[in-house]
Amino acid sequence: MAKLFFKYGTVFSAKSLNLIAAAYNYEIQGKKVLLLIPAIDSRSKGAVSTRAGLSMPAELVGPKSNILTIFKKHLKKKENIDCVLVDECQMLTEKHIDQLREIVDTYHTSVICYGLRVSYTLELFEASERLLALADKLEEIKTICWFCNDKATHNLKLLDGKPQYIGNPIEIGGLEKYLPVCFACYKNPKL
Ligand SMILES: [Zn+2]
Repeated sequence: MAKLFFKYGTVFSAKSLNLIAAAYNYEIQGKKVLLLIPAIDSRSKGAVSTRAGLSMPAELVGPKSNILTIFKKHLKKKENIDCVLVDECQMLTEKHIDQLREIVDTYHTSVICYGLRVSYTLELFEASERLLALADKLEEIKTICWFCNDKATHNLKLLDGKPQYIGNPIEIGGLEKYLPVCFACYKNPKL
């Protein structure tokens, strides 16, 4: 049975590494995957890449792109797609998630989305909220807090070494830094 998965985690939880490992597992069995990444993420440049240095080509999804159209285009070329893997899915829109749900239900192809659940301002991302509502399976990708050894559940934004709690939830490519933290260290980071 094809399913819609939401595998969420904080920053530094090796989400992209997990995605590449999953894609690799499909490919060594001769199965076909389609990798997607939001075009809004200026770091992506048409590839999923990891801090560990691994990289795989991915199709860019713009804010107005229809994922079903992208999927059907690839379906024609490859004849069959066994799994769709989405990186940084929190940067997609609610509509994109509805289109991914349709891929699962109409084409019986599993879709695995990797991304953040909440922003540094403690808000659910639009796409993550939709995924929490529509996914068949939720899975947490775990890592430990930067400051203590508890499980990290949140993302702390630092700008010039100072914690930031308000602003635009989606900001990329600036001088800010994000750290995985537990909620206690989110509130009172031991900087
Ligand atoms: Zn902590």
